[in-house]
Amino acid sequence: MADDIGGLWKYQENVEEGRGNVFYSLITNSSKEFMAYSDFPTPENFPNFLAHSHMFQYLQAYAKEFKLNERIHLKTKVEAVTKRADFQRSGQWDVITVDEDGTKHDMVFDAVMVCSGHNYNPNMPIDSFPGIENFKGKIIHSKDYKKPSAYTGKNVLVIGFGNSGGDIATELSEHASQVFLSTRRGAWVLSRMSDGGYPYDLLMLTRWKNFLRYYLPWDMFIRFEERKANIRFNHKIFGANPTFRFLSQQMVVNDYFPICVMKGKLVMKPNVASFTDTAAVFVDGSRVESLDMVVFATGFCFQFPFLEVDDTFTVCDNCNCLYKNVFLPMIQPPTLAFINLVEGNVAATSLCEMQSRWVTRIFKGLLSLPDKAEMLKDISNEQEKNSRKFPNLKRHTIEIEDCLVYTDDLARQIGVRPRFLPLLLKDPALALNVFFGPLTSYQYRLQGPGRWEGAAQAIRTQSNRVLVPFLGGSAAYSDTQSFGLFNLIVSLMLLAGCCLLVWFKTY
Ligand SMILES: Cc1cc2nc3c(=O)[nH]c(=O)nc-3n(C[C@H](O)[C@H](O)[C@H](O)COP(=O)(O)OP(=O)(O)OC[C@H]3O[C@@H](n4cnc5c(N)ncnc54)[C@H](O)[C@@H]3O)c2cc1C
Repeated sequence: MADDIGGLWKYQENVEEGRGNVFYSLITNSSKEFMAYSDFPTPENFPNFLAHSHMFQYLQAYAKEFKLNERIHLKTKVEAVTKRADFQRSGQWDVITVDEDGTKHDMVFDAVMVCSGHNYNPNMPIDSFPGIENFKGKIIHSKDYKKPSAYTGKNVLVIGFGNSGGDIATELSEHASQVFLSTRRGAWVLSRMSDGGYPYDLLMLTRWKNFLRYYLPWDMFIRFEERKANIRFNHKIFGANPTFRFLSQQMVVNDYFPICVMKGKLVMKPNVASFTDTAAVFVDGSRVESLDMVVFATGFCFQFPFLEVDDTFTVCDNCNCLYKNVFLPMIQPPTLAFINLVEGNVAATSLCEMQSRWVTRIFKGLLSLPDKAEMLKDISNEQEKNSRKFPNLKRHTIEIEDCLVYTDDLARQIGVRPRFLPLLLKDPALALNVFFGPLTSYQYRLQGPGRWEGAAQAIRTQSNRVLVPFLGGSAAYSDTQSFGLFNLIVSLMLLAGCCLLVWFKTY
Protein backbone atom coordinates (compact mmCIF):
# COMPACT_ATOMS: atom_id res chain seq x y z
CA MET A 1 0.00 0.00 0.00
CA ALA A 2 1.86 3.08 -1.20
CA ASP A 3 2.08 5.91 1.32
CA ASP A 4 3.41 8.40 -1.23
CA ILE A 5 3.43 9.13 -4.92
CA GLY A 6 6.47 8.24 -7.03
CA GLY A 7 6.08 4.47 -7.44
CA LEU A 8 9.46 2.83 -7.89
CA TRP A 9 11.23 6.20 -7.84
CA LYS A 10 10.63 6.56 -4.12
CA TYR A 11 13.66 4.70 -2.85
CA GLN A 12 13.12 2.43 0.13
CA GLU A 13 15.39 -0.14 1.76
CA ASN A 14 12.41 -2.36 2.48
CA VAL A 15 9.71 -2.16 -0.10
CA GLU A 16 6.15 -3.19 0.55
CA GLU A 17 4.64 -6.12 -1.35
CA GLY A 18 3.37 -5.21 -4.81
CA ARG A 19 5.61 -2.21 -5.50
CA GLY A 20 8.70 -1.97 -7.65
CA ASN A 21 11.80 -0.21 -6.41
CA VAL A 22 15.27 0.79 -7.52
CA PHE A 23 18.71 0.26 -6.00
CA TYR A 24 20.44 3.05 -4.11
CA SER A 25 22.93 4.23 -6.73
CA LEU A 26 20.54 4.02 -9.69
CA ILE A 27 20.84 6.77 -12.30
CA THR A 28 18.25 7.01 -15.08
CA ASN A 29 19.29 5.65 -18.44
CA SER A 30 17.38 8.35 -20.31
CA SER A 31 18.52 11.93 -19.93
CA LYS A 32 16.45 14.45 -18.00
CA GLU A 33 15.00 16.11 -21.11
CA PHE A 34 13.56 12.76 -22.17
CA MET A 35 12.39 11.86 -18.66
CA ALA A 36 10.36 15.09 -18.47
CA TYR A 37 6.63 15.26 -19.14
CA SER A 38 5.60 17.36 -22.11
CA ASP A 39 4.44 20.44 -20.20
CA PHE A 40 6.86 20.40 -17.29
CA PRO A 41 10.60 20.50 -18.04
CA THR A 42 12.99 19.29 -15.37
CA PRO A 43 14.79 22.06 -13.45
CA GLU A 44 17.86 23.34 -15.26
CA ASN A 45 20.12 22.73 -12.27
CA PHE A 46 19.28 19.01 -12.22
CA PRO A 47 22.07 16.84 -13.64
CA ASN A 48 21.56 15.40 -17.10
CA PHE A 49 20.97 11.90 -15.80
CA LEU A 50 18.83 11.76 -12.71
CA ALA A 51 19.27 9.89 -9.46
CA HIS A 52 16.10 8.31 -8.09
CA SER A 53 15.93 11.18 -5.59
CA HIS A 54 15.83 13.74 -8.45
CA MET A 55 13.17 11.76 -10.25
CA PHE A 56 11.15 11.56 -7.06
CA GLN A 57 11.50 15.33 -6.48
CA TYR A 58 10.46 15.94 -10.08
CA LEU A 59 7.33 13.80 -9.72
CA GLN A 60 6.44 15.56 -6.47
CA ALA A 61 6.88 18.98 -8.11
CA TYR A 62 4.72 17.85 -11.05
CA ALA A 63 1.95 16.65 -8.72
CA LYS A 64 2.09 19.97 -6.86
CA GLU A 65 2.04 22.09 -10.03
CA PHE A 66 -1.01 20.30 -11.43
CA LYS A 67 -2.71 19.94 -8.03
CA LEU A 68 -2.83 16.15 -8.31
CA ASN A 69 -2.30 15.31 -4.66
CA GLU A 70 -5.84 16.22 -3.68
CA ARG A 71 -7.11 13.61 -6.18
CA ILE A 72 -4.83 10.77 -5.09
CA HIS A 73 -5.92 8.33 -2.39
CA LEU A 74 -2.70 7.13 -0.80
CA LYS A 75 -2.54 4.04 1.42
CA THR A 76 -5.36 2.53 -0.60
CA LYS A 77 -5.06 -0.84 -2.27
CA VAL A 78 -7.22 -1.80 -5.23
CA GLU A 79 -8.37 -5.30 -4.36
CA ALA A 80 -10.77 -6.13 -7.19
CA VAL A 81 -11.85 -4.66 -10.49
CA THR A 82 -14.82 -6.44 -12.05
CA LYS A 83 -17.26 -5.69 -14.82
CA ARG A 84 -20.68 -4.49 -13.66
CA ALA A 85 -23.68 -6.66 -14.49
CA ASP A 86 -24.77 -4.16 -17.15
CA PHE A 87 -21.21 -3.76 -18.51
CA GLN A 88 -22.09 -4.19 -22.18
CA ARG A 89 -24.40 -1.21 -21.97
CA SER A 90 -22.66 0.97 -19.37
CA GLY A 91 -19.00 -0.06 -19.73
CA GLN A 92 -18.73 0.44 -15.96
CA TRP A 93 -16.55 -1.31 -13.39
CA ASP A 94 -17.06 -2.29 -9.78
CA VAL A 95 -13.94 -1.47 -7.83
CA ILE A 96 -13.20 -2.68 -4.31
CA THR A 97 -10.48 -0.87 -2.40
CA VAL A 98 -9.03 -1.50 1.04
CA ASP A 99 -7.65 1.32 3.13
CA GLU A 100 -4.95 1.36 5.79
CA ASP A 101 -7.16 0.12 8.63
CA GLY A 102 -8.60 -2.72 6.52
CA THR A 103 -11.92 -1.04 5.69
CA LYS A 104 -13.26 -2.01 2.29
CA HIS A 105 -14.96 0.42 -0.04
CA ASP A 106 -17.10 -0.37 -3.10
CA MET A 107 -17.15 2.14 -5.89
CA VAL A 108 -18.37 2.31 -9.46
CA PHE A 109 -16.12 3.71 -12.18
CA ASP A 110 -16.90 4.59 -15.79
CA ALA A 111 -13.41 3.61 -16.90
CA VAL A 112 -10.22 2.17 -15.41
CA MET A 113 -6.57 2.82 -16.25
CA VAL A 114 -4.28 0.12 -14.87
CA CYS A 115 -1.01 1.82 -13.88
CA SER A 116 0.22 -0.66 -11.29
CA GLY A 117 3.69 -1.05 -12.85
CA HIS A 118 5.33 -4.14 -14.25
CA ASN A 119 8.57 -4.20 -12.31
CA TYR A 120 7.67 -5.81 -9.03
CA ASN A 121 7.00 -9.50 -9.61
CA PRO A 122 10.42 -11.12 -10.22
CA ASN A 123 10.93 -13.52 -13.11
CA MET A 124 13.11 -16.28 -11.63
CA PRO A 125 13.65 -18.93 -14.33
CA ILE A 126 15.03 -21.43 -11.81
CA ASP A 127 13.77 -24.39 -13.85
CA SER A 128 16.16 -23.51 -16.67
CA PHE A 129 19.17 -24.17 -14.44
CA PRO A 130 19.66 -27.85 -13.56
CA GLY A 131 21.30 -28.41 -10.20
CA ILE A 132 20.43 -25.00 -8.78
CA GLU A 133 18.52 -26.71 -5.98
CA ASN A 134 21.91 -27.98 -4.70
CA PHE A 135 23.57 -24.56 -4.79
CA LYS A 136 24.60 -23.63 -1.24
CA GLY A 137 25.23 -19.93 -1.83
CA LYS A 138 22.68 -17.13 -1.70
CA ILE A 139 20.29 -16.52 -4.59
CA ILE A 140 18.53 -13.19 -5.05
CA HIS A 141 16.65 -11.29 -7.75
CA SER A 142 17.84 -7.87 -8.96
CA LYS A 143 14.71 -6.39 -7.34
CA ASP A 144 16.22 -7.21 -3.91
CA TYR A 145 19.58 -5.60 -4.68
CA LYS A 146 20.01 -2.30 -2.84
CA LYS A 147 23.64 -1.53 -1.96
CA PRO A 148 26.99 -3.22 -2.72
CA SER A 149 28.39 -3.31 0.85
CA ALA A 150 26.85 -6.72 1.61
CA TYR A 151 28.86 -8.25 -1.24
CA THR A 152 32.35 -7.20 -0.18
CA GLY A 153 34.86 -10.00 -0.72
CA LYS A 154 32.32 -12.36 -2.32
CA ASN A 155 32.34 -14.19 -5.65
CA VAL A 156 29.16 -13.18 -7.40
CA LEU A 157 27.50 -14.40 -10.58
CA VAL A 158 24.96 -12.06 -12.20
CA ILE A 159 22.63 -13.75 -14.69
CA GLY A 160 21.18 -11.51 -17.40
CA PHE A 161 22.71 -8.61 -19.28
CA GLY A 162 19.93 -6.05 -19.40
CA ASN A 163 20.21 -2.62 -17.81
CA SER A 164 19.76 -3.94 -14.27
CA GLY A 165 22.22 -6.81 -14.76
CA GLY A 166 24.79 -4.43 -16.26
CA ASP A 167 24.36 -1.83 -13.50
CA ILE A 168 24.55 -4.36 -10.67
CA ALA A 169 27.52 -6.26 -12.14
CA THR A 170 29.58 -3.11 -12.72
CA GLU A 171 28.78 -1.66 -9.30
CA LEU A 172 29.53 -4.95 -7.53
CA SER A 173 32.81 -5.36 -9.37
CA GLU A 174 34.21 -2.49 -7.29
CA HIS A 175 33.32 -4.27 -4.04
CA ALA A 176 33.12 -8.01 -4.59
CA SER A 177 36.13 -10.27 -4.87
CA GLN A 178 35.13 -11.24 -8.41
CA VAL A 179 32.03 -10.71 -10.51
CA PHE A 180 30.89 -12.86 -13.44
CA LEU A 181 28.16 -11.74 -15.80
CA SER A 182 26.37 -14.43 -17.77
CA THR A 183 24.56 -13.56 -20.99
CA ARG A 184 22.74 -15.63 -23.60
CA ARG A 185 22.44 -13.06 -26.32
CA GLY A 186 24.91 -10.28 -25.44
CA ALA A 187 23.94 -6.63 -25.62
CA TRP A 188 24.71 -3.40 -27.41
CA VAL A 189 26.22 -1.19 -24.75
CA LEU A 190 25.94 2.57 -25.02
CA SER A 191 27.51 5.22 -22.87
CA ARG A 192 25.34 7.97 -21.42
CA MET A 193 27.83 10.34 -22.99
CA SER A 194 27.93 10.80 -26.74
CA ASP A 195 29.75 13.05 -29.25
CA GLY A 196 30.90 16.30 -27.67
CA GLY A 197 30.04 14.95 -24.22
CA TYR A 198 26.28 15.40 -24.74
CA PRO A 199 23.74 12.87 -23.45
CA TYR A 200 23.51 10.11 -26.06
CA ASP A 201 19.74 10.26 -26.46
CA LEU A 202 19.73 13.96 -27.35
CA LEU A 203 21.71 13.09 -30.46
CA MET A 204 20.30 9.65 -31.19
CA LEU A 205 16.55 10.11 -30.78
CA THR A 206 15.69 12.67 -33.43
CA ARG A 207 13.20 12.80 -36.29
CA TRP A 208 16.05 13.27 -38.71
CA LYS A 209 17.78 10.08 -37.62
CA ASN A 210 14.53 8.18 -37.82
CA PHE A 211 13.99 9.62 -41.28
CA LEU A 212 17.44 8.35 -42.33
CA ARG A 213 16.70 5.01 -40.76
CA TYR A 214 13.61 4.57 -42.87
CA TYR A 215 14.81 6.10 -46.12
CA LEU A 216 18.41 4.90 -46.25
CA PRO A 217 18.93 1.19 -46.72
CA TRP A 218 18.24 -0.16 -43.21
CA ASP A 219 21.27 -2.42 -43.20
CA MET A 220 23.60 0.42 -44.09
CA PHE A 221 22.24 2.70 -41.38
CA ILE A 222 22.37 0.00 -38.70
CA ARG A 223 25.85 -1.10 -39.76
CA PHE A 224 27.06 2.47 -39.35
CA GLU A 225 25.64 2.63 -35.81
CA GLU A 226 27.10 -0.79 -34.97
CA ARG A 227 30.54 0.28 -36.16
CA LYS A 228 30.26 3.41 -34.09
CA ALA A 229 29.31 1.38 -30.99
CA ASN A 230 32.26 -0.93 -31.64
CA ILE A 231 34.65 2.01 -31.86
CA ARG A 232 34.09 2.69 -28.16
CA PHE A 233 34.93 -0.94 -27.44
CA ASN A 234 34.79 -4.05 -29.54
CA HIS A 235 31.72 -5.91 -28.27
CA LYS A 236 33.06 -9.25 -29.45
CA ILE A 237 36.36 -9.23 -27.60
CA PHE A 238 34.67 -7.83 -24.48
CA GLY A 239 32.30 -10.84 -24.39
CA ALA A 240 29.19 -8.69 -24.94
CA ASN A 241 28.80 -9.79 -28.56
CA PRO A 242 25.10 -9.21 -29.34
CA THR A 243 23.33 -11.87 -31.39
CA PHE A 244 20.90 -9.23 -32.70
CA ARG A 245 21.20 -5.99 -34.63
CA PHE A 246 21.65 -2.55 -33.13
CA LEU A 247 18.36 -0.89 -32.06
CA SER A 248 16.40 -4.11 -32.50
CA GLN A 249 15.95 -4.52 -28.75
CA GLN A 250 16.56 -2.50 -25.63
CA MET A 251 20.09 -1.26 -25.34
CA VAL A 252 22.19 -1.43 -22.22
CA VAL A 253 23.18 2.05 -21.13
CA ASN A 254 26.30 1.63 -19.04
CA ASP A 255 29.36 3.84 -18.74
CA TYR A 256 31.48 1.50 -16.65
CA PHE A 257 31.11 -1.85 -18.40
CA PRO A 258 34.20 -1.73 -20.67
CA ILE A 259 36.49 -0.41 -17.96
CA CYS A 260 35.32 -3.03 -15.41
CA VAL A 261 36.08 -5.74 -17.97
CA MET A 262 39.45 -4.14 -18.72
CA LYS A 263 40.28 -4.13 -15.01
CA GLY A 264 39.39 -7.83 -14.84
CA LYS A 265 36.96 -7.24 -12.00
CA LEU A 266 34.11 -8.25 -14.28
CA VAL A 267 34.35 -11.41 -16.36
CA MET A 268 31.83 -12.16 -19.08
CA LYS A 269 30.39 -15.67 -19.35
CA PRO A 270 27.93 -17.37 -21.70
CA ASN A 271 24.70 -19.00 -20.53
CA VAL A 272 24.82 -21.20 -17.42
CA ALA A 273 24.36 -24.91 -18.25
CA SER A 274 24.10 -26.12 -14.65
CA PHE A 275 24.99 -25.50 -11.03
CA THR A 276 26.71 -27.63 -8.43
CA ASP A 277 26.66 -26.90 -4.69
CA THR A 278 29.35 -24.23 -5.09
CA ALA A 279 29.99 -23.77 -8.80
CA ALA A 280 28.39 -22.73 -12.08
CA VAL A 281 29.11 -24.64 -15.28
CA PHE A 282 28.66 -22.69 -18.51
CA VAL A 283 27.57 -23.85 -21.95
CA ASP A 284 31.13 -23.46 -23.29
CA GLY A 285 32.29 -26.00 -20.68
CA SER A 286 34.03 -23.43 -18.44
CA ARG A 287 33.34 -23.41 -14.67
CA VAL A 288 33.36 -20.85 -11.92
CA GLU A 289 34.13 -22.37 -8.53
CA SER A 290 33.52 -21.07 -5.01
CA LEU A 291 30.54 -18.91 -5.89
CA ASP A 292 28.97 -17.14 -2.92
CA MET A 293 26.00 -15.53 -4.60
CA VAL A 294 23.87 -15.58 -7.71
CA VAL A 295 21.87 -12.50 -8.73
CA PHE A 296 19.06 -13.15 -11.19
CA ALA A 297 18.73 -9.99 -13.30
CA THR A 298 16.16 -11.78 -15.41
CA GLY A 299 13.38 -9.25 -15.52
CA PHE A 300 9.83 -9.40 -14.30
CA CYS A 301 6.54 -11.20 -14.87
CA PHE A 302 3.64 -8.87 -14.91
CA GLN A 303 0.42 -9.69 -13.19
CA PHE A 304 -2.80 -7.97 -12.26
CA PRO A 305 -4.17 -9.90 -9.30
CA PHE A 306 -7.01 -7.44 -8.82
CA LEU A 307 -8.49 -7.98 -12.28
CA GLU A 308 -11.38 -10.33 -12.96
CA VAL A 309 -10.40 -13.16 -15.30
CA ASP A 310 -13.17 -14.86 -17.22
CA ASP A 311 -13.74 -16.47 -20.62
CA THR A 312 -13.76 -13.25 -22.52
CA PHE A 313 -11.12 -11.49 -20.55
CA THR A 314 -7.69 -12.94 -19.96
CA VAL A 315 -4.59 -11.02 -19.14
CA CYS A 316 -2.07 -13.50 -20.46
CA ASP A 317 1.17 -14.37 -18.76
CA ASN A 318 3.57 -11.68 -20.02
CA CYS A 319 1.84 -11.90 -23.37
CA ASN A 320 1.35 -8.93 -25.57
CA CYS A 321 -2.34 -9.43 -26.12
CA LEU A 322 -3.15 -5.74 -26.08
CA TYR A 323 -3.92 -3.44 -28.98
CA LYS A 324 -1.13 -0.83 -29.11
CA ASN A 325 0.00 -2.39 -25.80
CA VAL A 326 -2.98 -0.70 -24.15
CA PHE A 327 -6.44 -2.15 -24.93
CA LEU A 328 -7.84 -5.68 -24.74
CA PRO A 329 -9.94 -6.07 -27.89
CA MET A 330 -12.36 -8.36 -26.04
CA ILE A 331 -13.42 -5.60 -23.71
CA GLN A 332 -16.22 -3.69 -25.40
CA PRO A 333 -16.87 -0.87 -24.80
CA PRO A 334 -13.17 -0.09 -24.35
CA THR A 335 -13.19 1.25 -20.80
CA LEU A 336 -10.14 -0.58 -19.50
CA ALA A 337 -6.63 0.52 -20.46
CA PHE A 338 -3.15 -0.61 -19.42
CA ILE A 339 -0.50 2.09 -19.14
CA ASN A 340 3.25 1.38 -19.34
CA LEU A 341 3.00 -2.24 -20.49
CA VAL A 342 5.67 -1.27 -22.91
CA GLU A 343 9.43 -1.25 -23.17
CA GLY A 344 11.78 0.29 -25.67
CA ASN A 345 14.68 2.60 -26.25
CA VAL A 346 13.01 5.73 -24.90
CA ALA A 347 11.99 7.02 -21.48
CA ALA A 348 8.97 5.32 -19.95
CA THR A 349 7.57 8.66 -18.80
CA SER A 350 7.06 10.05 -22.30
CA LEU A 351 5.57 6.79 -23.58
CA CYS A 352 3.16 6.57 -20.65
CA GLU A 353 2.12 10.18 -21.04
CA MET A 354 1.25 9.73 -24.70
CA GLN A 355 -0.62 6.50 -23.95
CA SER A 356 -2.59 8.34 -21.27
CA ARG A 357 -3.47 11.26 -23.56
CA TRP A 358 -4.67 8.80 -26.21
CA VAL A 359 -6.64 6.67 -23.74
CA THR A 360 -8.49 9.57 -22.13
CA ARG A 361 -9.70 10.70 -25.56
CA ILE A 362 -10.96 7.20 -26.27
CA PHE A 363 -12.71 7.08 -22.90
CA LYS A 364 -14.33 10.43 -23.64
CA GLY A 365 -15.54 9.20 -27.03
CA LEU A 366 -13.44 11.76 -28.93
CA LEU A 367 -11.53 8.97 -30.65
CA SER A 368 -12.52 5.45 -31.49
CA LEU A 369 -10.65 2.18 -31.82
CA PRO A 370 -10.77 -0.01 -34.92
CA ASP A 371 -13.13 -2.98 -34.79
CA LYS A 372 -12.20 -6.11 -32.84
CA ALA A 373 -11.04 -8.10 -35.88
CA GLU A 374 -8.68 -5.33 -36.97
CA MET A 375 -7.25 -4.97 -33.46
CA LEU A 376 -6.68 -8.74 -33.21
CA LYS A 377 -4.94 -8.71 -36.58
CA ASP A 378 -2.67 -5.88 -35.47
CA ILE A 379 -1.83 -7.73 -32.23
CA SER A 380 -1.03 -10.94 -34.05
CA ASN A 381 1.26 -9.05 -36.47
CA GLU A 382 3.12 -7.56 -33.50
CA GLN A 383 3.32 -10.96 -31.75
CA GLU A 384 4.66 -12.52 -34.91
CA LYS A 385 7.36 -9.83 -35.23
CA ASN A 386 8.36 -10.22 -31.57
CA SER A 387 8.45 -14.02 -31.64
CA ARG A 388 10.79 -13.90 -34.64
CA LYS A 389 13.08 -11.51 -32.83
CA PHE A 390 12.93 -12.93 -29.32
CA PRO A 391 12.14 -16.66 -29.47
CA ASN A 392 10.95 -17.92 -26.07
CA LEU A 393 12.01 -14.80 -24.30
CA LYS A 394 9.28 -13.82 -21.88
CA ARG A 395 10.85 -10.52 -20.98
CA HIS A 396 10.59 -9.11 -24.50
CA THR A 397 6.88 -9.57 -25.09
CA ILE A 398 6.10 -5.89 -24.53
CA GLU A 399 9.12 -4.53 -26.34
CA ILE A 400 8.50 -1.99 -29.07
CA GLU A 401 11.12 -1.75 -31.78
CA ASP A 402 10.57 1.85 -32.73
CA CYS A 403 9.15 3.87 -29.89
CA LEU A 404 9.33 7.12 -31.85
CA VAL A 405 7.05 5.68 -34.52
CA TYR A 406 4.77 4.25 -31.82
CA THR A 407 4.50 7.60 -29.99
CA ASP A 408 4.07 9.52 -33.24
CA ASP A 409 1.26 7.17 -34.25
CA LEU A 410 -0.68 7.83 -31.04
CA ALA A 411 0.12 11.56 -31.36
CA ARG A 412 -1.24 11.61 -34.92
CA GLN A 413 -4.49 10.07 -33.73
CA ILE A 414 -4.83 12.67 -30.99
CA GLY A 415 -3.89 15.45 -33.41
CA VAL A 416 -0.71 16.56 -31.61
CA ARG A 417 1.99 15.26 -33.94
CA PRO A 418 3.86 18.41 -35.05
CA ARG A 419 2.94 19.48 -38.58
CA PHE A 420 6.28 20.37 -40.02
CA LEU A 421 5.32 22.58 -42.96
CA PRO A 422 3.12 25.09 -41.09
CA LEU A 423 5.76 25.17 -38.38
CA LEU A 424 8.50 25.88 -40.91
CA LEU A 425 6.53 28.81 -42.32
CA LYS A 426 5.69 30.18 -38.89
CA ASP A 427 8.97 29.65 -37.01
CA PRO A 428 11.79 28.18 -39.13
CA ALA A 429 14.29 27.98 -36.24
CA LEU A 430 11.82 26.03 -34.14
CA ALA A 431 10.99 23.75 -37.07
CA LEU A 432 14.71 23.03 -37.52
CA ASN A 433 14.93 22.18 -33.84
CA VAL A 434 11.89 19.88 -34.05
CA PHE A 435 13.28 17.97 -37.01
CA PHE A 436 16.99 17.85 -36.20
CA GLY A 437 16.88 18.29 -32.43
CA PRO A 438 16.00 15.75 -29.74
CA LEU A 439 12.49 14.33 -30.06
CA THR A 440 11.48 15.29 -26.54
CA SER A 441 7.84 15.25 -25.54
CA TYR A 442 7.45 19.09 -25.61
CA GLN A 443 7.01 18.66 -29.37
CA TYR A 444 3.62 17.11 -28.70
CA ARG A 445 2.37 20.28 -26.98
CA LEU A 446 3.05 22.66 -29.87
CA GLN A 447 -0.23 22.07 -31.67
CA GLY A 448 -3.60 20.40 -31.26
CA PRO A 449 -5.60 19.43 -28.17
CA GLY A 450 -3.77 20.15 -24.92
CA ARG A 451 -1.51 22.69 -26.63
CA TRP A 452 0.83 24.34 -24.13
CA GLU A 453 1.95 27.94 -24.59
CA GLY A 454 5.36 27.17 -23.09
CA ALA A 455 6.16 24.28 -25.46
CA ALA A 456 8.13 26.28 -28.05
CA GLN A 457 10.16 27.95 -25.32
CA ALA A 458 10.77 24.57 -23.63
CA ILE A 459 12.22 23.30 -26.92
CA ARG A 460 14.33 26.41 -27.49
CA THR A 461 15.76 26.29 -23.99
CA GLN A 462 16.46 22.57 -23.73
CA SER A 463 20.10 23.05 -24.71
CA ASN A 464 20.38 25.53 -21.87
CA ARG A 465 18.94 23.06 -19.37
CA VAL A 466 21.44 20.50 -20.61
CA LEU A 467 24.45 22.81 -20.34
CA VAL A 468 23.73 24.53 -17.02
CA PRO A 469 24.50 21.52 -14.74
CA PHE A 470 27.97 21.23 -16.28
CA LEU A 471 28.80 24.48 -14.54
CA GLY A 472 27.34 23.39 -11.23
CA GLY A 473 23.96 24.98 -11.85
CA SER A 474 24.91 28.52 -12.86
CA ALA A 475 22.89 29.83 -15.81
CA ALA A 476 25.81 30.91 -17.98
CA TYR A 477 24.47 30.02 -21.38
CA SER A 478 22.32 31.86 -23.84
CA ASP A 479 18.95 30.24 -24.43
CA THR A 480 19.30 30.49 -28.19
CA GLN A 481 21.74 27.63 -28.55
CA SER A 482 20.15 24.79 -30.37
CA PHE A 483 20.65 21.07 -30.62
CA GLY A 484 18.99 21.36 -34.01
CA LEU A 485 22.11 22.85 -35.56
CA PHE A 486 24.48 20.56 -33.70
CA ASN A 487 22.47 17.53 -34.73
CA LEU A 488 22.28 18.77 -38.29
CA ILE A 489 26.08 18.82 -38.45
CA VAL A 490 26.42 15.42 -36.77
CA SER A 491 23.72 13.99 -39.03
CA LEU A 492 25.37 15.32 -42.17
CA MET A 493 28.54 13.61 -41.00
CA LEU A 494 26.51 10.43 -40.52
CA LEU A 495 25.10 10.75 -44.01
CA ALA A 496 28.59 11.29 -45.41
CA GLY A 497 29.77 8.22 -43.46
CA CYS A 498 26.96 6.10 -44.91
CA CYS A 499 27.81 7.29 -48.44
CA LEU A 500 31.46 6.37 -47.87
CA LEU A 501 30.37 2.94 -46.63
CA VAL A 502 28.36 2.39 -49.80
CA TRP A 503 31.28 3.60 -51.88
CA PHE A 504 33.72 1.22 -50.16
CA LYS A 505 31.30 -1.68 -50.60
CA THR A 506 30.74 -0.92 -54.26
CA TYR A 507 34.33 -0.37 -55.35
C1 LIG B 1 15.54 -0.73 -11.64
C2 LIG B 1 14.72 0.01 -12.67
C3 LIG B 1 15.25 1.11 -13.32
C4 LIG B 1 14.51 1.82 -14.26
N1 LIG B 1 15.10 2.89 -14.88
C5 LIG B 1 14.40 3.59 -15.79
C6 LIG B 1 14.98 4.73 -16.43
O1 LIG B 1 16.12 5.09 -16.20
N2 LIG B 1 14.24 5.41 -17.34
C7 LIG B 1 12.96 5.01 -17.64
O2 LIG B 1 12.33 5.67 -18.45
N3 LIG B 1 12.40 3.93 -17.04
C8 LIG B 1 13.07 3.21 -16.15
N4 LIG B 1 12.48 2.13 -15.55
C9 LIG B 1 11.16 1.65 -16.02
C10 LIG B 1 9.92 2.06 -15.19
O3 LIG B 1 8.90 1.24 -15.72
C11 LIG B 1 9.48 3.45 -15.43
O4 LIG B 1 10.51 4.30 -15.14
C12 LIG B 1 8.23 3.99 -14.73
O5 LIG B 1 8.56 5.09 -13.92
C13 LIG B 1 7.45 3.06 -13.92
O6 LIG B 1 6.26 3.75 -13.57
P1 LIG B 1 4.87 3.07 -13.31
O7 LIG B 1 3.99 4.14 -12.76
O8 LIG B 1 4.40 2.32 -14.49
O9 LIG B 1 5.14 1.95 -12.20
P2 LIG B 1 5.62 2.08 -10.71
O10 LIG B 1 6.56 3.20 -10.53
O11 LIG B 1 6.06 0.71 -10.31
O12 LIG B 1 4.28 2.49 -9.90
C14 LIG B 1 3.20 1.62 -9.74
C15 LIG B 1 2.40 2.06 -8.52
O13 LIG B 1 1.20 1.29 -8.47
C16 LIG B 1 0.98 0.89 -7.13
N5 LIG B 1 0.13 -0.33 -7.11
C17 LIG B 1 0.41 -1.56 -7.60
N6 LIG B 1 -0.63 -2.39 -7.38
C18 LIG B 1 -1.59 -1.67 -6.74
C19 LIG B 1 -2.89 -1.97 -6.24
N7 LIG B 1 -3.44 -3.19 -6.35
N8 LIG B 1 -3.59 -0.99 -5.64
C20 LIG B 1 -3.07 0.26 -5.53
N9 LIG B 1 -1.85 0.60 -5.99
C21 LIG B 1 -1.11 -0.35 -6.58
C22 LIG B 1 2.38 0.66 -6.57
O14 LIG B 1 2.38 0.69 -5.16
C23 LIG B 1 3.12 1.83 -7.19
O15 LIG B 1 3.01 2.97 -6.40
C24 LIG B 1 13.19 1.41 -14.58
C25 LIG B 1 12.64 0.31 -13.93
C26 LIG B 1 13.39 -0.38 -12.98
C27 LIG B 1 12.77 -1.56 -12.29
